[in-house]
Amino acid sequence: MTNDQGVGSVVIDTAEPSQFVTTTSTVEGLLRAIFGRCIRMQAFVMEELGSVGFVDKDRPEPGPNDAILRPTKGLVCTSDVHTVHGAIGERESLTLGHEVVGVVDEAGDEVSNFEAGDRVAVGAITPDWGSAAAQDGYPSQSNQALGGWKFANVKDGTFAEYVHVNEADANLARIPDGVSDEAAVYVTDMMSTGFMGAEHADIPVGGTVAVFAQGPVGLMATKGARLQGAGQVIGVETVPERQDLARQYGADDIVDFAEGDPVEQIRSLTDGEGVDAAIEALGSAQTFEQCVAATKPGGTISNIGYHGEGDTVPIPREEWGVGMSDKTIRTGLCPGGRLRLRRLLRLLDAERVDPTHMTTHRFPFSEADEAFRLMETKEEDVIKPLVEFE
Ligand SMILES: [Zn+2]
Repeated sequence: MTNDQGVGSVVIDTAEPSQFVTTTSTVEGLLRAIFGRCIRMQAFVMEELGSVGFVDKDRPEPGPNDAILRPTKGLVCTSDVHTVHGAIGERESLTLGHEVVGVVDEAGDEVSNFEAGDRVAVGAITPDWGSAAAQDGYPSQSNQALGGWKFANVKDGTFAEYVHVNEADANLARIPDGVSDEAAVYVTDMMSTGFMGAEHADIPVGGTVAVFAQGPVGLMATKGARLQGAGQVIGVETVPERQDLARQYGADDIVDFAEGDPVEQIRSLTDGEGVDAAIEALGSAQTFEQCVAATKPGGTISNIGYHGEGDTVPIPREEWGVGMSDKTIRTGLCPGGRLRLRRLLRLLDAERVDPTHMTTHRFPFSEADEAFRLMETKEEDVIKPLVEFE
């Protein structure tokens, strides 16, 4: 655990009950004031490696800089599946989920920008903004590699009736009135990560980009490449529904890797040159190698895929110009933070992108296990299952 307070354990607070009447405006707040801190809530958890289910937990309490969120919409992520299958090791009764929007239920005493009732998005990554890495410009790596990743990793995640958010002033953003909760929930990870893939790709205006895999993050990388001014965006994908969505989000060409070597196909679409940038949005060693090979000398390989298997990710020696081809490999973890979220929400408000085309399924929170199973099996052409809390 980090400095997040009151998560995953019972907090004994000796404060006078009258304090909560002034710091909350909800029925639950009044109930807490009258009956003490005994609010229980439902949470969808990883019980242990390989198994998920619903449990009762104590509602978390905010530290002075934190907030408690009451979710309205959430999305299941492939990384929730990776987690349950052991990608980050053993966990016990860990609440899953990291993509959520909702309403502030309670704000800590030191929180100055948000209050109960505000409709907000919270980043999937909630950095410690005072860390040295944040001051260095890499908040997602706060305190350690990937240290900004807290939800469903080092603290309880977002598939619960209440969610604890550390450093609320820095990690929440108000959702504009014209933006729906369903659209806004995509900024928390899919848009932030996918657009980062395009931002890190250093795309020249009019340049060429190949985006390997058109799952939800790849689709947003495709859209991001278009927004960044790419002149030709090539989506690498074999599933017809994903190919269609890729075109909708701005892919000019589709390369189907089931129909032959994708690197050869990309070269033939770019006068034999290769692309200015390749974005890896799958997390496969083979795809990463293809990204290196498909990129022309001087180009950039931007990795946003989660490489959850194997000890190494190989770089093909000759395609890498024996280490002298001026190719840049750039990595990153979903940027979080209020400014980032506000910029992404502005794109929604200005109707530059509509991420809701990726919502293929809807479930009430009571059926979050079904939503998870769907993401696990990838059946029914699922892109994103939306979980609705109310
Ligand atoms: Zn995610």
